[in-house]
Amino acid sequence: MSANEKRILLVEDEKAIRDAVAAYFERDERENYIVRGVGDGQSAVEEFEKYPFDIVILDLMLPKLSGERVCRSIRETSNVPIIMLTAKGEVEDRIIGLELGADDYLIKPFSPRELVARVRALLRRAHAESEPQLEVLDFGDLVIDISGHKVTICDEEIDLTASEFKLLTTLARFPGRVYTRMELVEKVLGYDFEGYERTIDSHVKNLRAKLGDDPRNPRWLYTVHGVGYRFESPDKGDKAKAARARAN
Ligand code: CA
Repeated sequence: MSANEKRILLVEDEKAIRDAVAAYFERDERENYIVRGVGDGQSAVEEFEKYPFDIVILDLMLPKLSGERVCRSIRETSNVPIIMLTAKGEVEDRIIGLELGADDYLIKPFSPRELVARVRALLRRAHAESEPQLEVLDFGDLVIDISGHKVTICDEEIDLTASEFKLLTTLARFPGRVYTRMELVEKVLGYDFEGYERTIDSHVKNLRAKLGDDPRNPRWLYTVHGVGYRFESPDKGDKAKAARARAN
């Protein structure tokens, strides 16, 4: 395996789509994509256990094991970027996909060009996150170790997907600043196609669940109605208050 190889697991039961997508990626001259195509969910899970992949393109409606189940299974062991493919109209289904921890979705029929753009963006982001940056954001109970790609609450590590991590670090770098959904789409997903703002809502929902942050009584992640989201750091304030109380 050469260092710049990018291994894609493509899970799609329609052979015509599978072949066309694989051919499109393998024709790309700028990147060395290796596509492994499988036609059902069971094979996808088996293949993923056998080989390391850099990214997974996953159709939602699949024989044997649904895309939903495959996504859940992969997420038990890996934070590999996952793009879900869904048919037009399956709005609820694609939201389910994101709630299961997929990083992105694309509605069929899609242009292979757009799929390649999404894959590039996700791979670039995954790569950027694996680069060492010495940065730790300490909010008391919540500590975000950006260099170690690790988030802990009261010293307990919590497991975030690439999108959730990016979302959290984007917001937490500037506590109090309000980000619109569109800004977050750009920063977290790396592109600015319209209509993907709801993706952010799903990621926020997942992130809140993992942080144990109650949206009705938030500690960190605040909804700014009609606009977007902001991060607050109550613990730091509490600590400062406690320090002042001790000093008095
Ligand atoms: Ca299908």
